[in-house]
Amino acid sequence: MSAPKQANIDSAKTILRAYLENKGLRKTPERFAILEEIYNRADHFDVDELYISMKNKNYRVSRATVYNTLDVLVDCNLVTKHQFGRNLAQYEKSYGYRQHDHLICTDCHKVMEFCDPRVQNIQNMVGDMLKFNVMHHSLIFYGSCQRDPCDNRRENEVEKDLQGVPARPAEVQTTT
Ligand SMILES: [Zn+2]
Ligand SMILES: [Zn+2]
Repeated sequence: MSAPKQANIDSAKTILRAYLENKGLRKTPERFAILEEIYNRADHFDVDELYISMKNKNYRVSRATVYNTLDVLVDCNLVTKHQFGRNLAQYEKSYGYRQHDHLICTDCHKVMEFCDPRVQNIQNMVGDMLKFNVMHHSLIFYGSCQRDPCDNRRENEVEKDLQGVPARPAEVQTTT
């Protein structure tokens, strides 16, 4: 995922504003603050990670507002929701960012990205062949980091420690 671009953030805000007006929902500053926070992140995150990072920056938002706003943002295609094989849903920004697929380390659960135009070609070709209007796809490669020790696992634990959040049981398991 590339660095945040102000033009993307501005366009995303315009889309959100139009969506809220169209649905008769309130255009609260919290919703726009959450959108901005997401578009300034360059990772895949769960609801609590987003909530905690906003709290650490002294935004006054409730967890319920974060949940509710994420639903809105997924609904207007500004955020993509992933179910990466764990119970917890993870999210990432989607407007103005390249199409990509994911690799997941089964040791540390780190999510990585790759972009290969051949995946899009397969999607188009299969759609044409089977007369099927493919709207989106989900492709995930599962495996383990070829590093010893797994850099990602270590990084993950440090991040969790900094946020003061206890690591989930799956993340403290070692594979040796
Ligand atoms: Zn790993
Ligand atoms: Zn991604």
